[in-house]
Amino acid sequence: MPQQDPFDLARPAVNDRDDLYGAHNLPYGVFSTPDEPGRKRIGVRYGDRVLDVHTAATALGSPHADVLAHPTLNPLMAAGRPTWRAVRASVATWIGYPAIEPFLHPLTEVTLHLPFEVADYADFYSSEHHATNVGRIFRPDGPALTPNWKHLPIGYHGRAGTVVVSGTPVIRPNGQRLAGDTPVFGPTQRLDIEAEVGFVVGAPSRLGERVPLSAFREHVFGVCLLNDWSARDVQSWEYRPLGPFLGKSFATSVSAWVTPLDALDAARIPPPPRDPRPLPYLDDTAEAEPGGFDLRITVAVNGHTVAEPPFSAMYWTAAQQLAHLTVNGASLRTGDLYASGTVSGPEPHQRGCLLELTWNGRDPLDLPGGKRAYLEDGDEVTLTAWAPGPEGTRLGLGEVTGRIVPA
Ligand code: MN
Repeated sequence: MPQQDPFDLARPAVNDRDDLYGAHNLPYGVFSTPDEPGRKRIGVRYGDRVLDVHTAATALGSPHADVLAHPTLNPLMAAGRPTWRAVRASVATWIGYPAIEPFLHPLTEVTLHLPFEVADYADFYSSEHHATNVGRIFRPDGPALTPNWKHLPIGYHGRAGTVVVSGTPVIRPNGQRLAGDTPVFGPTQRLDIEAEVGFVVGAPSRLGERVPLSAFREHVFGVCLLNDWSARDVQSWEYRPLGPFLGKSFATSVSAWVTPLDALDAARIPPPPRDPRPLPYLDDTAEAEPGGFDLRITVAVNGHTVAEPPFSAMYWTAAQQLAHLTVNGASLRTGDLYASGTVSGPEPHQRGCLLELTWNGRDPLDLPGGKRAYLEDGDEVTLTAWAPGPEGTRLGLGEVTGRIVPA
């Protein structure tokens, strides 16, 4: 390769203004190439290409090469926010150098992997619209929301080992369900999705330490899209009194790209008004930064859009969820993943799961391939999302997709 002046600014062919993955986005992932399938490397998406950031950092003599020399994002995530910001600023500069051209791989020629090693996984239930709909479906004679709902972000601990990257087939789970009043065993007949947003913890905390609302950005590295696959018949039989268990632990899919929080500054918005006012550790009315995010999600089944849930409608914010996760002194580990809960808006076409969209099968969706109450074998579900970026741009949040294979 001829020596080129790295400061000769001539950008690769990306229109940063219109591209969802322009210089304002720069999400992180992990990839390999066909010639070295066992060598997983950290990549940054730029347009329709992936920058091998460790090789680029080494070639350019960057002080951050060490933290990028790994098959997962965890060492970078553990390094903390000052390093995240420095690396991001460096990458934003590098993409203008012709010298990095050899380190850019077309997306179509790489394999994307689970971008981080998942430590613990928790899932919340923070959409008032979703919780209200679920309450109406399952408890039509009582109040839709449980008495605790507006006092704390309800959640449960899930299964970290079955978090899989987008594209991984989802095997229809077996389990117990009720047939009339009789428990029977077999493949779930009510396989559902939950369109969610995942938050990835970078910097850990100590046992006994609380993470206040104001420290959210010091701990959370970034955001991914997440599909919390759910077997509703298994779930509804098993969940009393301890909550979801096997009905949700068989697979949780995440996008291959983690968008840094720093890329989402233009998407920050105030959350909806909260009434009653939460207890002080959850009260964000005096926080300097708004806690909500304006993320627009699209849910497609077999390529057909079935819902467009708005993340802006979420009642509890990711900062409140993190404060609640740690208020008892539970520590955070690098790689902890916590999900928002099903994202549903106030309108029928904004509901983020089939349970709500079909009202538990009563109103099947009319799709080009036939009616759907719940998912059938061979169905493919894809979540995508975008967020407002700086100066009128838009950021893509990648996609999370999965196809159902028979039990
Ligand atoms: Mn969920």
